[in-house]
Amino acid sequence: MLKWYDRAGRDLPWRLREGRPESYRVWLSEIMLQQTTVAAVAPYFTRFLERWPTVEALAAAPRDEVLGAWAGLGYYSRARNLHAAAQQMAAAGAPESEAGWRELPGVGPYTAAAIAAIAFDEATNVVDGNVERVMSRLYAVATPLPEAKAELRALAGALVTADRPGDWAQALMDLGATVCAPRSPKCEACPWIKDCAAYATGAPETYPRKRAKAERPRRYGAAFRIERDGALWLARRPDKGLLGGMAALPSTEWRAKKWSRAEVLRHAPVAGDWKKVGAIEHVFTHFALTLDVYSAVTAPPNDGWWGDASALPTVFKKAAKR
Ligand code: SF4
Repeated sequence: MLKWYDRAGRDLPWRLREGRPESYRVWLSEIMLQQTTVAAVAPYFTRFLERWPTVEALAAAPRDEVLGAWAGLGYYSRARNLHAAAQQMAAAGAPESEAGWRELPGVGPYTAAAIAAIAFDEATNVVDGNVERVMSRLYAVATPLPEAKAELRALAGALVTADRPGDWAQALMDLGATVCAPRSPKCEACPWIKDCAAYATGAPETYPRKRAKAERPRRYGAAFRIERDGALWLARRPDKGLLGGMAALPSTEWRAKKWSRAEVLRHAPVAGDWKKVGAIEHVFTHFALTLDVYSAVTAPPNDGWWGDASALPTVFKKAAKR
């Protein structure tokens, strides 16, 4: 793996050809790379380093200037945390261990492990989505994600040694980014092809296994909208069941089968000239609802009251608006 990295590792603006990069460089690049691609980060990284070559320079810059220079990179809390962390480091010195980096704003477990490995050669376990994918393939892990996370972390951790841990971390990152790609891994270019259990199955791209998302069932119903002088006729839902005891528009039962117009009219709270004015979609935890909205100019039914939509649960607010 390390031989492969020496030969095929990526040339990135924050890496040095020789020696270990200083932590400022590594930290800046790792913060910028959170949820952001290498291609998007590269010009920002170069500009930042030119403008603020040291952590002290960054700390001394007005925060608005730092935020301005970050504009376009997204997730702006990163820039605020960057500036705050720079000020802490300018005052108290930069940390030199994974645990120390964890104390700084904006530095999570992955980032702290990566900085400690790359800048200080600490034998940390640097695990992100790329590394999880590589491990799941190397060992053909049958447990699906996200349940497999701890198992994949342990597998990655077992491979970390005191032999160039910083390069090891970057080698894994590079393998995941350039060779062991999510959809079509280029196994012929992989230094692990002989050891890879997923490759041996003939379908490495089917790893990591993912838990099938249970399809949310759909239910159908109709709500009845009676309006007079800007007020809506409201009814209280039964205490038991979904939205129990809440104010609501009168409504049919919500069921798995679609309602025909004739069925809806039979369930209207009062006779009238009911017209379908539209439908709304609403997602509850256990089902998705398509609620047809019917409207009529009619006398209200017996039970209920005139009110406004402000106290209604969202699903009925949507229906009232429609
Ligand atoms: S052999 Fe293929 S699937 Fe296995 S680690 Fe290498 S690139 Fe990934």
